[in-house]
Amino acid sequence: MTTPTRADAEALDRDDQLSHVRHAFDLPEGIIYLDGNSLGPPPKTALARIANVANQEWRNGLIKSWNDAGWIDLAKKCGGKIAPLIGVDPDEVIIADSVSVNIFKLAAALSQRHDAAIAYERGEFPTDGYILQGLSALTGVDLIEVTPDDDIFPQKKTVLIKSAVHYKTAEIANIAELETEAKEHGSSIIWDLSHATGVIDLALKKNGASYAVGCGYKFLNGGPGAPAFIYAAKDKASTLHQPLCGWMGHAAPFDFAGDYKPASGVERFACGTPPILSLSALDAALDLFTDLEMQAVHAKAMALGDFFLRCTEDFGLPTVSPGIGSVRGGHVCLSHDNGYAIMQALIARNIIGDFRAPDLMRFGFAPLYLRFTDIWGGANQLKDILRTEEWKRPEFSVRGAVT
Ligand SMILES: *Cc1c(COP(=O)(O)O)cnc(C)c1O
Repeated sequence: MTTPTRADAEALDRDDQLSHVRHAFDLPEGIIYLDGNSLGPPPKTALARIANVANQEWRNGLIKSWNDAGWIDLAKKCGGKIAPLIGVDPDEVIIADSVSVNIFKLAAALSQRHDAAIAYERGEFPTDGYILQGLSALTGVDLIEVTPDDDIFPQKKTVLIKSAVHYKTAEIANIAELETEAKEHGSSIIWDLSHATGVIDLALKKNGASYAVGCGYKFLNGGPGAPAFIYAAKDKASTLHQPLCGWMGHAAPFDFAGDYKPASGVERFACGTPPILSLSALDAALDLFTDLEMQAVHAKAMALGDFFLRCTEDFGLPTVSPGIGSVRGGHVCLSHDNGYAIMQALIARNIIGDFRAPDLMRFGFAPLYLRFTDIWGGANQLKDILRTEEWKRPEFSVRGAVT
């Protein structure tokens, strides 16, 4: 296959059915942002909403805004907007806490309810394993680390935490197949949708999935540290007792009763007071998805990834992601021993991706605002950095706390 030209990229941009969505974002001039899988850029409506919540609802409305501005129902309402993106009912999702905390709550509730071990896959996003290690140390529940080649449901009943899209490879898990297998073993799966929500077409209910957690600040563009979400199927949620049973998950928080009585359904997974400023930004950001067809969103993410792989095919950088024409999520990882320095050199040229140790350069292809010409431009800068060995400059080896 011949290397694509700028004209090829321009032609693809002309055919792009999602090109109009880019205008909804406030993107800085001159930047090619290939890191929306780590932190989405701000939708203009989200910025306006934060200003309004701060200056009107908080400043003028004060505590009255819990009722008057609907703050008290926002976590539920916002969860309802995520539901169609993951293929479940609106009353089965609530916004709460972080992904890490939500994994703790769900894994604790499920392992206790089913007297099951807890398990995660080696190479999974670290927080998933850390949280299960902490849970096991606290409660004594059996903890199993499975390798992807193992029988994933090794023994007795297990609660497995599993990413729908892997944060490094971008491989997509076969949800339906794994759910069937889990049920045969009396096991359950908590799906970590952090790299999947807002970029792939998730049909959780149709595929038999009952539990999931996911991130608000990646492809959903909710802002740095945006709260996460949690899904528990209606028929299961009310049988679960989560240990972080704070007052916001109580059936009637403002009764100030002495004893805890869980709210019905997924609402019992709320713990404390939600961060209204962040939650409002996420709520506004989610409206961008209202009229979008998730199949088209995923198709464009893959097309951008394919185009990037075609542009970089002869750079001598192996990919750990599914290759050209394969099904994958919204990012691609290329490996190089000096990947960190190369990524820093790219960032210095305003091409922003990220680095995942030990050797992966990760490029995210958020379909709502990226153009094929952006991908072409980014790939050509990468080529130039490799050719000139600009990455060898000492400043590009200085590590920041966040990579
Ligand atoms: C980003 C990400 C998280 C984030 O967890 P937080 O607790 O919300 O910071 C968790 N899991 C995966 C797979 C992720 O990609």
